[in-house]
Amino acid sequence: MDKQQTEFTVEQATSPVSAQDREAMLANPGFGKYLTDHMVTISYSAEKGWHDAKIGPRHDLQMNPSTMVLHYAGEIFEGMKTYRHPDGGAGLFRPEANARRFNNSAARLAMAQIPEDLFVNSVRELARIDRDWIPSEGEGSLYMRPFMIGTEVAIGNHPSDAFLYAVIASPVGSYFKGGVSGVSVWVSEEYTRAAPGGTGAAKCGGNYAAALAAQAEAAKHGCEQVVFLDAVERRWIEELAGMNVFFVFDDGTIQTPPLTGTILPGITRDSLIRLARDKGMTVREEPYGIDQWRADIESGRLVEVFACGTAAVVAPISQLKGKDFDLTIGDGGMGPVTADLRKTLTDIQFGRSNDPHGWVDRLF
Ligand SMILES: *Cc1c(COP(=O)(O)O)cnc(C)c1O
Repeated sequence: MDKQQTEFTVEQATSPVSAQDREAMLANPGFGKYLTDHMVTISYSAEKGWHDAKIGPRHDLQMNPSTMVLHYAGEIFEGMKTYRHPDGGAGLFRPEANARRFNNSAARLAMAQIPEDLFVNSVRELARIDRDWIPSEGEGSLYMRPFMIGTEVAIGNHPSDAFLYAVIASPVGSYFKGGVSGVSVWVSEEYTRAAPGGTGAAKCGGNYAAALAAQAEAAKHGCEQVVFLDAVERRWIEELAGMNVFFVFDDGTIQTPPLTGTILPGITRDSLIRLARDKGMTVREEPYGIDQWRADIESGRLVEVFACGTAAVVAPISQLKGKDFDLTIGDGGMGPVTADLRKTLTDIQFGRSNDPHGWVDRLF
């Protein structure tokens, strides 16, 4: 990684969204509906390494129709948020963990590695230049979306020798329409998300494309999300299409499926495990079967279930539905353990409490 440019050229947007329009968007941002005024782009080629690092006005991308990403799905991404703090400043949450995971995803898809400090600085600089887009009320935040595509112009199938890395940002409110009320999940017996040796641990667009039919199956059965079983035994709970899952038992212990290579290693997942252990709770990273899940709901041993990820933070799962069962977990709302962990995590992210693990990266 000797040939690389890490200084950004900065070009201010000449026709940014007016303050009035921006405030209207921030008042009701939805999720991913609006983009900020600027974006980051950095190019990579085999000869030049990383070059042309720019922060400039957000613009459309133009591509030759044979560009590799359009045919072979060479695309990876990350998701992280900039949180407004009570003193008016702002911070990212564990951005170096996203940088590391981005490079792990890149390695799995035979894409170029990006220096971690270049990745982190690109996200920081975009959040700073678009700071007026960081919501200052409630649970809103600025969602940062770094991504990389293979840009070699060639129909032949081989690893791309050129890449475009970019970061865009979008002000967001609550991920689920119902806020933090319970989510219903459908257990897919038809589809799996990831097989051993596959790309389940990589954050790539292809995994999401492959989950959409399962997501549609869930919607057809009146569920908001799909929960996937392992591809070999079709028995062990893995995760939702874009969120990890935790189980809370009546003895106060917590369990989440282990990172076996078919599950995306969530930074929210990792943070919650640490915070739960800080509180003295027992957290097991052990497989949990669908039969056991059903039996534990019926016996009352399982008291809370929640999904977690950067976008939705922590969302209770209140209903488990499958081909021949339909079970309600708890009272359909957010249980006390879920609520407590959610509050502990979001208080750190929003700078409302101290930061015992040094996870917050203050931007200004
Ligand atoms: C991004 C993602 C998650 C959550 O990861 P976080 O780092 O917590 O945002 C979980 N599962 C999948 C499949 C994901 O893509």
